[in-house]
Amino acid sequence: MTTGRRGEPDGLLDLRRLDLTPGAGAEADVPVTLPVVTMGGQPYTPEPAGVIVRVDVGSSGSGLGLRLRFGAALTGPCQTCLAPSRVVIAVDTREYQALGRNAQAAGDDDFDCEYLHEPARMDLDVAAWARDAMVEAIPMSIFCRPDCRGLCARCGADLNTGPCACGDDATDPRWAALEALRERLTGESDDPL
Ligand SMILES: [Zn+2]
Ligand SMILES: [Zn+2]
Repeated sequence: MTTGRRGEPDGLLDLRRLDLTPGAGAEADVPVTLPVVTMGGQPYTPEPAGVIVRVDVGSSGSGLGLRLRFGAALTGPCQTCLAPSRVVIAVDTREYQALGRNAQAAGDDDFDCEYLHEPARMDLDVAAWARDAMVEAIPMSIFCRPDCRGLCARCGADLNTGPCACGDDATDPRWAALEALRERLTGESDDPL
């Protein structure tokens, strides 16, 4: 972090320019560039990377209630078949900052919002908050479709396009017929493979 944030770079919100009169509600739309997230060694890319994050700030007199909302979509490989997949997430999360704690050296989870920076705790790092909230909102599983059958563990075939030769051939009548035909053509059960 560099000093001198007066220019309000991407993803930063100076709460001092909002109306924080107790009882009043203020809101701001902050442009943020979302980062690529790596899960299971695979990259998941926000598309579009640039989103507008809505920040609501309410002052109660004893503290600030902060709310962050945005929608995003991530693209990356299906976790079972590696086909291109897309997941849409909706972020809606809150933080609280107690007033009169500016002199505190260490942050306290119950009273301090970790995304508000010293010395005055009035610079809100919207980009960092949005990034963390996005990662938390990503579902545990990302599939190309809800009923993705994945890849065959033996031959690697995409089972969404049909059964592979090493799978359920004994129970699939089409494969059973092929097997019978092959045995008849070769004249015996001697497997050339
Ligand atoms: Zn899949
Ligand atoms: Zn297979």
